[in-house]
Parts: sequence; structure tokens; C-alpha cells
Amino acid sequence: MNMNVLVFNCGSSSIKYKLYSMPEGRELASGSVEKVGETGSRAKQKSAAGEIVFEEAVPDHSAGLAVIRRMLTDSSKGAIRDVAEIHACGHRVVHGGDQYSDSVLIDGSVLDGIRECNDLAPLHNPPNLTGIRAAMELKEGMPQVACFDTAFHQTLPEKAYLYALPYELYEKYKVRRYGFHGTSHRYVAAKAAETLGVATAQVNLITCHLGNGCSMAAIHAGHCVDTSMGLTPLEGLVMGTRCGDIDPAILFYLGRKGYSVDDLDTMLNRKSGLLGISGISNDNRSLCEQAAAGDRRASLALDIFAYRIRKYIGSYLAVLNGCHAIVMTGGIGENSSETRETILSNLDSLGVHFDAERNRALGRVAGEISTANSPVKILVVPTDEEVAIARDTYRIVSTGA
Ligand code: ADP
Repeated sequence: MNMNVLVFNCGSSSIKYKLYSMPEGRELASGSVEKVGETGSRAKQKSAAGEIVFEEAVPDHSAGLAVIRRMLTDSSKGAIRDVAEIHACGHRVVHGGDQYSDSVLIDGSVLDGIRECNDLAPLHNPPNLTGIRAAMELKEGMPQVACFDTAFHQTLPEKAYLYALPYELYEKYKVRRYGFHGTSHRYVAAKAAETLGVATAQVNLITCHLGNGCSMAAIHAGHCVDTSMGLTPLEGLVMGTRCGDIDPAILFYLGRKGYSVDDLDTMLNRKSGLLGISGISNDNRSLCEQAAAGDRRASLALDIFAYRIRKYIGSYLAVLNGCHAIVMTGGIGENSSETRETILSNLDSLGVHFDAERNRALGRVAGEISTANSPVKILVVPTDEEVAIARDTYRIVSTGA
């Protein structure tokens, strides 16, 4: 069955989308509406027919969807003639709590389920819901599918997802590790299994999604058994602006010095990580440039970033008792050979033999950067969360499963 699937990633002030022809996963158009509800809104789209840019007021997500509809069906540079040619929508939803271990066809109870997770992801789930409602207006009765960032991590065992806090907090407030970037970890794990020639259901991997947000997953027999992000995306690795793991008592200490909960939230989520340490930027590429030019704090930020990842690699090798491969993905994992080298050199005693030459020679393509006889392979696998969402949507709408 052929189907055109429109994939959405809705934030509070932006809507990103891609239209695919399924089942082959061919991209027909991609675009975004930025600054929704703000001044200076801008919409753009690329398709085989050309590029469109609109600069006009977009007061809310419904208006954003109306602009997207116009761009998709534009008579000269659009990708389709009529919205009737869109058969289903797939939505990235950040938090599915412990209710969703797979993508799901959206109905009233799923909308309620997503809303129930609003408290756990107050910045993400409400705009995800707004996007779903706006997409429902696009064409009456069009199937909508939700793909949760948390779903892939629902196979974590209790010992990995529970915090050592009073158990009532889990029972009463669902305080536990959920993990994020699940669609990316699942996608690159399947690709890596294919490259290794190992069945997905048998593959053991450590996947590293290193973008602005960074997370790792330990995958055993194709199932996620541990991941670095927690109740929220703040835990774990050092990220562009997030601190990752810190001593929680730092918060009490700073609280007693007069910082409010909101101050601390902003500091840890938006002013820490690479940006906080370097004082220059949250961007890996600029920091590599500054470090090469001799900036000490840029080097320090990159060192701390890589060191945290090495610690997690060590701990996940112990969790898995070895694995087939370590997989690097996300903007940094796919592109920064320098950062990969700092992370992955000198792990030989753990069976991870990094090949510096192969690493430097690799462009932005999938490839192996370990030596030919390394017991643990190292693979670079470009992620593609949108196509993964399009595939889930296609599977669920065409087969009902
Ligand atoms: P997001 O999490 O927002 O999707 P990306 O996956 O695009 O982010 O990753 C953004 C990060 O990737 C930035 O730190 C950026 O500097 C880094 N990056 C992108 N391209 C390169 C490159 N060629 N060399 C080094 N770092 C890069």
C-alpha cells in the first residue's frame, strides 16, 4: 500500500515537518515554521519543485498548519496538489511516561495520556499536543500517530529505572528514569545490527546520540536496558547547555545561597554544559575551533564532555558484559572526528580498538572507525528520527499494529 506520511516535530514556537512517500521512505518535502506566536515568523520549505519562503504573522500552531498546507500544495513549488494526498501524520511526542512502549494511533485516550505527562515535560508535551490538534484540522479523519521519545526505553529493568529515593515518590509521582532520544537510539541500533550482520533481536550495543542534547543507551538483545537521561533530559552526559550528572546537594547549597527553583532550572538546563564551562558557546564546532586557537576553557569544556562519555562507555560495557559495537550518532557523533578521537582513543584494554586514520578519513557517511580486528566495533551511523516516525506511522496505519 502506498501512502504519503507527514511527520511533525512541534515545539512551543516552531513546527518542523517532512512529507514522505511510503513505504520507500522517499522525502517529498521538508520545511519549518519558526517563531510561531512571536514577531518575525518565518516559514520555509524545500521540495524537488523548489524552495518557498513566507514571512508573515503566524499567531498560533493552527495558523502555522495553514501556512504548511499552502506551501505543500503550492501550484509551482509545492509537493502535492491537495491535502487529500496526505494519508497520515506522525508526531514526535517527547514524554509518554510509562504508558507507551511503542508508537500508537492517536485517539481521545491517547490525547489524555499525553496530557497526563505534561507535568513531566512541561516545555515539550503541551506544544506536541497543540501540534497534534492543529494537524487534526488539516483533513478530517486523517489517522494521527504519536511516536514517543521515551518508548524505546520502556524495557529498562526496575534496577535501572528506579532512583534510590523513598519508593512512595515513584508510586505517587512516577519519579523514575524514563530516558529520551529513544527513536534515534532505536533507529541507529537497527542500522548498526544490519551493518554488523547480527539480528536486531540479538545485538548488544552502546549507542551515543551526541547533538545539542546528548544521551547514551545500553542495548541488550535489541532491547534498551539502561540510558543516561532520566526523569527529564537533564541527567547524564554533558550537553550543549545542560549539565548532566551533578551532585544533587549542589542544588540545596545554591538554594541556601538564595537561588530560586526557577533560577536553578534555567541555570542547569540553559546555562551549563559546554556553554557554562567554556563561557563561549554551546556549539561543539565553534569550541573545537576556539580550542585549536588556544582557548583554555574551550579545551576544558570539550575534555569534560568527552570524559563523561568515556565514563558511561565503561559503565555500559560492565552493564552489558561487552558488546558488538559502540555507535556514534547526532550532529557531534556523526561529524566531529576530533571529539570522537578524544572519546574513543585508549580504550584498548576494554576491547575497543579505535582506528584514528579511519576516523579522520570518514566523511558524513556511515562507517567503521575501529581497527579491522577490534573485538568491539565502533560505528558512525547517521540518525534519521523523522524517517523512523514515518515508518512507524506507515506500519500502524497500514497494518493496525
Ligand atoms: P540537535 O540536538 O539540536 O538536533 P544536532 O544533532 O544537529 O543537534 O547537533 C548539533 C551539534 O553538532 C552542535 O554542537 C554542532 O557544533 C555539532 N556539529 C555539527 N556539525 C559539525 C561538524 N562538522 N563538526 C563538529 N561538530 C559539528
